[in-house]
Amino acid sequence: MMNDCIFCKIVDGVIPSKKAYEDDEILAFHDITPMAPIHCLVIPKKHIRSLMDLEAKDIGLAGRLLNKAQELAKELGCGENGARFVINTGRDGGQTVDHLHIHILGGRALSWPPG
Ligand code: 5GP
Ligand code: ZN
Repeated sequence: MMNDCIFCKIVDGVIPSKKAYEDDEILAFHDITPMAPIHCLVIPKKHIRSLMDLEAKDIGLAGRLLNKAQELAKELGCGENGARFVINTGRDGGQTVDHLHIHILGGRALSWPPG
């Protein structure tokens, strides 16, 4: 666990969150500033800084994160209309929390391209 990482603190329960899913290696919770009617974050409990820092040994975990994001999106009602799955990465990618996370955005039609 990284002491200064907001999402590690959420994993540890030091910072409260509205959880959407949890198991021994994955946590999903509702974004504190939702950008769509459905806006959840799916994260590994283990601190991985970003997608750029994903290592070969984490490939299984990465697959399970994606699978969970898909399952959760369906559970939250996006199965029919779809959703957007976003991994902001690094400074140019607009990443503001340096703990790997997949955004699930849904519940409305989203525009493209992003800014
Ligand atoms: P990023 O910009 O790094 O892709 O996404 C970080 C996301 O984390 C943002 O959408 C932001 O609203 C969300 N966030 C930041 N701090 C907290 C928090 O303390 N609790 C929750 N639930 N979400 C947070
Ligand atoms: Zn962390």
